[in-house]
Amino acid sequence: MTDNTLITLNENALENNIDFLNKKLGPKVKISAVVKANAYGHGIEQVVPLFEKYGIEHYSVFYYHEAIRVYKSIKKPASILVMGWLWDNNIRDAIEKGIEFFVFNIERLNLAIKYAKELKTIARIHLEAETGMNRSGLNVDEFAQAMSIIKENISNIEIAGFCTHLAGAESISNHFRIQKQLKTYNKMLASLEANNLHPEYKHVANSAAAFVYPKARMDLVRIGIMLYGFWSSTEVFIQYMNSNGIKKDPLKRILGWHSQIMSIKKVKSGEFVGYGISYLAQSDITTALIPVGYSFGYSRSLSNKGRVLIHGHRCSVIGVVNMNMIIIDISNIENVKVGDEVVLIGKQGELEIKVSAFSEISDELNYEILAHLPESIKRKVINQ
Ligand SMILES: *Cc1c(COP(=O)(O)O)cnc(C)c1O
Repeated sequence: MTDNTLITLNENALENNIDFLNKKLGPKVKISAVVKANAYGHGIEQVVPLFEKYGIEHYSVFYYHEAIRVYKSIKKPASILVMGWLWDNNIRDAIEKGIEFFVFNIERLNLAIKYAKELKTIARIHLEAETGMNRSGLNVDEFAQAMSIIKENISNIEIAGFCTHLAGAESISNHFRIQKQLKTYNKMLASLEANNLHPEYKHVANSAAAFVYPKARMDLVRIGIMLYGFWSSTEVFIQYMNSNGIKKDPLKRILGWHSQIMSIKKVKSGEFVGYGISYLAQSDITTALIPVGYSFGYSRSLSNKGRVLIHGHRCSVIGVVNMNMIIIDISNIENVKVGDEVVLIGKQGELEIKVSAFSEISDELNYEILAHLPESIKRKVINQ
């Protein structure tokens, strides 16, 4: 655990986001909180108990080991869904624990049945349909085969969900492709129901689809990025703001990232700072060294570009981002001391460094920056 840098999680912001989503989606649409990639960098162990406190009862992850972390973090009964990877022998354990998982091939379906029979129980699965993303999912032939296998083994298998994933609902350029996917999904759903197989939940939407295509909400939405206070894309944000005639972002960001000054130095005009020749002091300057670098997910592409907040002022990263350090120009701020707080993401005084500001400079998505925040950084829940 590294303790010279701290990630804060704002509980009030989290509550605000859940309230907003509940209000917009209505009581008939259940939210599955997507907590893959360590809850988008926020920390599964810290965020899941808060989600639970504010009424979330359904969680989606990618890996089985993440499902286990969620399983250990909840106190009340909830559904946990693995959308991606499990080892074959995890399937048995998952069924035993009541953990649900996507089935996107016949092999996994057969294993689920085999283990459910051994355990004399029922495996709860989500049939994933291939509807045009061409990533994972049962194609029409496999789907027909899956239906007949399920009908033969109906005492050991339960269709907890029938689902698909849409290939980029956050951009209007994918509109036709998405419409086609929805059509294919509905056709496959009709054939499932014609076979007297009725999934408990029908779900296709992530954050973007839930807002851009209200029809795609069905009875469950898999919401990740919006729970954490971000819109999937500027396009989705602008569309929502315009069509609702509002000016203030209804979502609030949960995460802040803080560090502190490790040392302070004076550099004479004409000297290079840091590795190589990427930054030349044009005048006498004062620099602060911060113990955070690319090994913490502070991207190297922020070299000579990134900004941090110190004493409520915006200050520039100078020179290249090192593995464990960045150098900041603090020439224009008075009375700065070793140990003073540095904000890498979040608010200090009147100013804010947004993850999006970060990503515009470094060409990374919000998603990518958040997912890169290392698990080793301490997380602390705050109310602000
Ligand atoms: C990550 C993911 C989501 C959540 O996406 P957001 O854009 O963060 O809401 C939903 N469904 C699947 C299959 C995913 O992989």
